[in-house]
This record gives sequence, structure tokens and C-alpha cells, in this order.
Amino acid sequence: MEIEGKEEPVTACTTPVAEGMVVNTKGAKALRLARTALELLLASHPVDCANCLKNGSCELQKIAKHLGVKLKTKRFKKILPELPIDSSSPLFIYDPNKCVLCGRCVWVCQEKLSKGIIGFAYRGFRRMVTTFGDEPLGRSLCQDCSECVAVCPVGALAFRKIM
Ligand code: SF4
Ligand code: SF4
Repeated sequence: MEIEGKEEPVTACTTPVAEGMVVNTKGAKALRLARTALELLLASHPVDCANCLKNGSCELQKIAKHLGVKLKTKRFKKILPELPIDSSSPLFIYDPNKCVLCGRCVWVCQEKLSKGIIGFAYRGFRRMVTTFGDEPLGRSLCQDCSECVAVCPVGALAFRKIM
């Protein structure tokens, strides 16, 4: 976001509110940074909305529309993770390739429910949400409460379709 009187944009999540602060989230500089951040994220995202369980309710789709960015943007070279999909739960699918590392699922499991079944592991491009020992969720201590699925903004954690 941009703050009146400051030359460069700042991160909204780390900037404390101050008396008289005038904020602009739609300034040219802030929007250019937001678009670039999204395009970098999309460079490692397997965009296949037609076959995705979250098609139509995906926050990545909403943000792309809001910022006027094409989901299949070619601005940056595409590098995909190609991790195995975990379909061991009877209720939901976990596709780590679609994860945007927002941390909502980890927060729910660790902080809200005090279960700690899932957490972040590895570094850099290999960073991912997983279980202890990378056990599939269906073979871990997970009891399919599905609260993580409910908060996932994209198709990484998604309920199976009921036939
Ligand atoms: S997670 Fe969203 S952007 Fe990605 S394939 Fe699914 S619907 Fe499309
Ligand atoms: S809520 Fe979904 S996108 Fe966010 S870290 Fe968990 S699996 Fe990834």
C-alpha cells in the first residue's frame, strides 16, 4: 500500500496505523508490486481451473481478477513443484502443488485446535505443508475434522465431490 508523504510503498501487514495516516491501496506503485507478487506466485502454480475442485470459489481467481492479471500469465518462466497428491482422506484431497503457503491450515490445526498434525517443512522452493515424517494425512493422526479444508483459499485442500 502507499502512504501519503512516503516515496515507496510499504507492507500493510507490518505497518502500524498512525494518527492522520492516509493510505492508498490502489496507487500505481502498490498495484505494480501486487501484480508482480501474484505473477511470481502463479509461475509455480499449476493453473488448471476447469479440473479444480475450488473452481469458482478460489481466492487466487478472485485476486487475479481484482488485479487484472491473467492466471496463465507468461511473464515469468514456469517452474512447477510436481509433488504427489494426497488422496488418503475419505473426505478431502490435499494437492501440495496448488498450495500458496498462506498458513491458514497450519494455524487452524496448531493454534485453534491445538492438534499440530500439519506444519511447514523444508526451505525455499521445497517449502510445503506436511505431516510429521511426510505421512499421508489418512495415515497420520489426522481425524478428518476438515477445519483446515474449510479455510484453504485455493484448491490445495478441497473436499471431494459427492457423487
Ligand atoms: S487453485 Fe484456483 S487458480 Fe489454482 S487451479 Fe484451482 S481454481 Fe484455478
Ligand atoms: S490453507 Fe491451503 S494454501 Fe494455505 S497453506 Fe494450507 S494448504 Fe496451503
